[in-house]
Amino acid sequence: MRLSDFVGYGDKLEHLMRSVQAGRIVHALLFAGPHGSGKRTMANLFAQALMCRGQEPRPCGVCPACKRFAAGSHPDVKTIRPEKKTIGVDDIRDLIDYLALKPYEGGRHIAIIEQAEKLTPAAQNALLKTLETPPGDAMFFLISDAPGSLLPTILSRCQTVRFTDLSAEDCAAVLTRRGIPPERARLLAGLAQGSVGRALELDGDNDFAALRERVLKSLEALNGPASVAAAATALEDDKGSEQAVLEIMELWARDRMAVQAGADPYEASDLDRLTRSRLDGRALLMGVMRARAQLASNVSWPNALENMYFHLIDSGDNGRNALSWQR
Ligand SMILES: [Zn+2]
Repeated sequence: MRLSDFVGYGDKLEHLMRSVQAGRIVHALLFAGPHGSGKRTMANLFAQALMCRGQEPRPCGVCPACKRFAAGSHPDVKTIRPEKKTIGVDDIRDLIDYLALKPYEGGRHIAIIEQAEKLTPAAQNALLKTLETPPGDAMFFLISDAPGSLLPTILSRCQTVRFTDLSAEDCAAVLTRRGIPPERARLLAGLAQGSVGRALELDGDNDFAALRERVLKSLEALNGPASVAAAATALEDDKGSEQAVLEIMELWARDRMAVQAGADPYEASDLDRLTRSRLDGRALLMGVMRARAQLASNVSWPNALENMYFHLIDSGDNGRNALSWQR
């Protein structure tokens, strides 16, 4: 993947690359944004581009420097990846000692600090002077999804590259480039609300596929007041996955609405199932909204779910039945 391939951010990073090449050096960059928004991928790609000795566009991916970087063994790049709760003064002293050495390949050092919000105040103070006047051409990449926890003195010495979640469409495009089939990419992008990292987590998550199947089975089991308790019980034990259950239902509702209107659903592989469904998509969507509001005002998950199901099999909205079995 190249900088320009990075949907939504290519321009920003190309610009940074040009300022570095033009000698307008930025010593410290802060990659800030929510979990899964691509900041770590971007920081690494940018570091690799700076280390690359191959042909433009960089990173070329094939030169010895790129290969060493990809293997995590480039001698001039040091990454602090906290495994403990904090990054302490000792970690920063080690880093400063490392930066005092001559770069092995004669270029510059790059120090990458992941989860920079874990730097203790003492560690941040220890880092301050080095951030201001780094040895040689050394560059710092700080990565954080909670930059507000960093000292103002650190923030003022960093140029911030801000990340937000992508639109579902852009997120799906990124996933497709990573080899995920387009239909699945759209589904994952919708569920992850534009977070590429979250979408990739979901993609590798067999539990998630199983949860989705349980949700659809539960909806399909609704066929009258007597069915509500059993259908809801099937999902009540999914502690902590209430939001995921509601997201799955929301996408299903939207697809069902599309099918009811004679349009193509998002998830084309579900077409048969969507056509067979007896749920009214709009009533389900309203139910999901209501359930979210109830959860936010501390209604328990089993209660919110059963309320939604009773609504669905009850009168529906405007006297229309949510389930066609009543028609
Ligand atoms: Zn290269």
